[in-house]
Amino acid sequence: MSSETEEKRAKAQPNGCERAFIQHNKIKWFWAPAFFGFWLLLYVTISIPACHRLPRPLTIQDEAKHPDQFIAERAENNLRDLVSLGPRVVGSRTNEMAALKLLSEKTHKIKSGTANEIEVDVQVASGSYVHWSMVNMYQSIQNIVVKVSPRGTNSTTWLLVNSHYDSVPAGPGAGDDASMVATMMEVLRVLVNSEKPLKNPVVFLFNGAEENPLQASHAFITQHKWAKYCKALINLDSCGNGGREILFQSGPNHPWLMKNYRRAIKHPYASTMGEEMFQNNMIPSDTDFRIFRDHGAVPGLDMAYTYNGYVYHTRHDKAEIFPRGSLQHTGDNLLALVREIANSPELEDSSKYAEGHTIYFDVMGWFLVFYTETEGVIFNVIVSLTAIGICGFAFKLMSVSSGIKLEKILKRVLHTFFVNLLSVLVSAILPVLLGLFMDAVHLPMSWFSNSWLILGLYFTTFFFGFAIVPAMYFHWTKFDKLPIGQRVQILLHSHCLLLAILTLILTICGVRSVFVLTLSCLFYTVGLIINIATKLHSKDVAWVIPHIVCLIPPFVFFAYFSHGFFTTFIPMFGRFGENLNPDLAVAIFSVAVGFLCCGFILPVLQLFNKSKTIICGLLGITLICFIIALTPAGFPYRPETNVQRFAVLHAKRTFHDADNKIRRQESGYFIMPQDRRTYTVKNDVINMTLAQRIGDDCEKEINCGLPLYNQRWHKTRKNSLWIPASEPVLGDDLPTVKVISKKELSATKIRYDMSLTGPNHMAVFVQPLNGAFITNWSFHQAPLRLRFDPPYFVYFSWGVNGDPLKFWIELEKPNGNLNSSSLELGLGGHWTHHKDMLTPDFKKFLDSFPKYTDATPWPASFESWIY
Ligand SMILES: [Zn+2]
Repeated sequence: MSSETEEKRAKAQPNGCERAFIQHNKIKWFWAPAFFGFWLLLYVTISIPACHRLPRPLTIQDEAKHPDQFIAERAENNLRDLVSLGPRVVGSRTNEMAALKLLSEKTHKIKSGTANEIEVDVQVASGSYVHWSMVNMYQSIQNIVVKVSPRGTNSTTWLLVNSHYDSVPAGPGAGDDASMVATMMEVLRVLVNSEKPLKNPVVFLFNGAEENPLQASHAFITQHKWAKYCKALINLDSCGNGGREILFQSGPNHPWLMKNYRRAIKHPYASTMGEEMFQNNMIPSDTDFRIFRDHGAVPGLDMAYTYNGYVYHTRHDKAEIFPRGSLQHTGDNLLALVREIANSPELEDSSKYAEGHTIYFDVMGWFLVFYTETEGVIFNVIVSLTAIGICGFAFKLMSVSSGIKLEKILKRVLHTFFVNLLSVLVSAILPVLLGLFMDAVHLPMSWFSNSWLILGLYFTTFFFGFAIVPAMYFHWTKFDKLPIGQRVQILLHSHCLLLAILTLILTICGVRSVFVLTLSCLFYTVGLIINIATKLHSKDVAWVIPHIVCLIPPFVFFAYFSHGFFTTFIPMFGRFGENLNPDLAVAIFSVAVGFLCCGFILPVLQLFNKSKTIICGLLGITLICFIIALTPAGFPYRPETNVQRFAVLHAKRTFHDADNKIRRQESGYFIMPQDRRTYTVKNDVINMTLAQRIGDDCEKEINCGLPLYNQRWHKTRKNSLWIPASEPVLGDDLPTVKVISKKELSATKIRYDMSLTGPNHMAVFVQPLNGAFITNWSFHQAPLRLRFDPPYFVYFSWGVNGDPLKFWIELEKPNGNLNSSSLELGLGGHWTHHKDMLTPDFKKFLDSFPKYTDATPWPASFESWIY
């Protein structure tokens, strides 16, 4: 060691006060719990409350003091009225008559005011569109369409606001989507009664068939007389019950909408990351937003509740648990937003303002940050280049202050960079291995109810992996001339360099969500600049203070952001299906979130005495949490609140041969696994041990011989379970195809004219036989034009009017053998709201499901016919 360096080392020794805190240039080990506690405290006291903060709901008594404002109590009354009708399934009397009547009456009670007029229209429509590989065909579904316009207007640019009043058969649909319907109704009332005239009209679409899926929005945007005037959209849906509504999709390509959102919104909650995930199909849901965009080219804002997704699409999605504060939150926002957009000059010629994507996110629900994609690219590049530059400068200063040649410092940087890279790798692999292990030992989803177990299982494993590698490196090179405080700084700078490089790469790849890395780099660099400016960087430990202070804002923000993310996703693992290992996904999420929140925090652990012991102590926490996962606390489900989902069809399957004789007939319960732990019920549910995979039938029968009408089920249908049982009671409205006529059009061409009758939810599978292929038909043309693989799937449902569906199919038979059969039809029928149709055996079967489950029963039929 040169004498000059020794002198500098001597200068860097701590003074009396610091000595109590540090020992041998390291922080005393017993400060470690305080260090962890500090960050945990920030998370628990700032980030989590910000995630769940709701405004004070206004009551009818408050109305006089708050004219022209959204009154949550009124919205709540709307909500209770609608939900009290029960499940509102398309085609049921509840949906087509009771709900329609209730909402029409409510709109008719709102009388035109002095400034704005109201006009109500009921749309009954039929049509079809292609959804994934399915033809989605509807007959006589209904919409209630309400227009509010300023008196005497001739404006032709209107704003559209959409939410749906229908629900799934499983439950009363309070969160999804009666809450939004109720909010829209109250906003409508305030607008019509307001003294302030709107500049442009607003259309409120009370949508009667969304769960079906997305039929009514298609009917409106392709057929309604007002559709062509709608130039922008606000879509309101839900995959939860309560909480704050998040703006998770905007545009596409209309930044002016985000400008309006920022200006108007009272309680911002928005995320670009949600938009990217949604548009990359990472979320098992779809909203009307897509229909308006694809079939009407209407740009808009897509908002939804995501909190408490446990009850979504179950019988527990009740009005009683829906918080009034959530209604106020959404109502305040929607009212302000409708006024802002309806009055904005951009609405009048929105195409002029279609200019690229935007990046947006809210900060703790306090305010919204928003910039265009181009500004984002500039921001990312400037921040990452500056970060790289400042780190380089810091290395130079380190060389000067330590008296070690820059060359040698840079050699250490290179080593440390690879050590950091290795630690990133190890910290990513360990949680993944744990995720695979938890699944292998039949303990997946232990965190489903007690989500803090994720912190104890996956985050601690991540922390361990990320910290142990550098700890070993520092241990093996402990005789380095450079003091540990400086070496830890090199580690942090290396991490910053890694993030900066990643930011540049992902920016080039066009990933908008990369802004999170940019923010990470930005705050780290600010801390570094402060350290350089105050010369604290050359101290052994003192630099930690500015470093930590600058990490607080990004930590609190990322923790808030991640908490919202986890709250949204954890319940979704209850319906991602059986093929996804949920623990693996949660492990990967934890790694990503861990890097974001703690990437610059964890290296500080290296400054503690006994750092390796502290780091290994984290694994102790993992072990304790693993043991908890083995106990009832780690059992995923809870009755009422965190249920396990089952869809159970009581089905009769009948297969006919070419002579119309029955060649196979059987009845049974058909279960589609909704999550990874279907086996948990096998000891409770009657005959569950007899359950067989349907797999083999998929080779033998059309559509595996299953009456599925939900497209989402088709991907995993081979895994579904079949338990032989007694016959279901089916309606006398069994799906029936009648051949009206069969004509030979030429020596090789044949045409069938047919008609279909049956219950309001049917599936038709069409399979050409004996070398025939379909040349034309009366269904949607896309499957033929795009050459989908047969069997073709036509989903058909009807609302108020169950008249027969007439259709025709033309087939070409190149071999000219028109006498052999040329067509097989598979007909699936569902009785989605006939609770009285359940047989005693089926009821017994359903009752055998444990209390923590939510099983939706449907009588169903499947028949195959050859023509
Ligand atoms: Zn919905």
